[in-house]
Amino acid sequence: FIVFDKVDKRFGRNVVLDDLSFSVGSGERVTLIGPSGSGKTTILRLLMTLTKPDGGTIKVDRDYLYHEERDGRLVPASEGHIRKVRSRITMVFQHFNLFPNMRVLRNVTEAPIHVLGKSKDEAEARGRELLEMVGLGDKLNAYPSQLSGGQQQRVGIARALAVDPDVLLLDEVTSALDPELAAEVLDVLRDLARTTDMTMLLVTHAMKFARDVSHRVLMFNEGNIIEDGTPEKIFNEPENDRTRTFLRSVI
Ligand code: ATP
Repeated sequence: FIVFDKVDKRFGRNVVLDDLSFSVGSGERVTLIGPSGSGKTTILRLLMTLTKPDGGTIKVDRDYLYHEERDGRLVPASEGHIRKVRSRITMVFQHFNLFPNMRVLRNVTEAPIHVLGKSKDEAEARGRELLEMVGLGDKLNAYPSQLSGGQQQRVGIARALAVDPDVLLLDEVTSALDPELAAEVLDVLRDLARTTDMTMLLVTHAMKFARDVSHRVLMFNEGNIIEDGTPEKIFNEPENDRTRTFLRSVI
């Protein structure tokens, strides 16, 4: 469903992704782990078209975001095409990124109304439902600053789900939170994983959570995948020394 084929990404002389190829099936939940700076967030940002690759092909379903031709030329998809692909993918950010001047319900209905063209009534009905689902049915009229970090992040999740995405990207969604608040966010995501067949790509340091919800774990190091397997395999019997050392440092 998601395909990266020989993707390169550099920032100046810093090679962040080096000829990276992998794919994720429809409905698969895949966790990216690895040391800081190994390129995990960059992968999510490429899918969100927040940054461009230097080479290679990135495909979502049958649609290209970027396509490298035989002569090595990188061809980005047209604006309209990218908008279409982008409307199927959403991301939940580490630092929530809520609209601070909008009440909770409005944060959740903004994209459905202004990007998807839904009616206010329809968007609000769905928004209420989603906020209820993340345990915030009583906070519809609060401003983000009146909420705890954990509550804000649960709004972030409701907001992402409001556009009914095929692909949900989660970028270290609990790393800015105290453990107790992180736990309530992870509970919401565990429930979500149980009840949906959305494709999910997660970057997280919460290894127990990763083990509970992922079908597959990819271990990154220096811009490439050094190990790819089930959570049981990667967490219990990693083959690569680098994976073993990394897991010892985070668990
Ligand atoms: P972390 O766990 O710290 O988020 P990561 O594996 O997600 O690490 P990335 O955030 O993808 O790693 O970053 C990979 C490398 O790219 C890092 O060396 C980072 O400094 C560099 N980098 C990321 N974004 C930019 C940017 N906009 N300009 C320059 N360098 C960048």
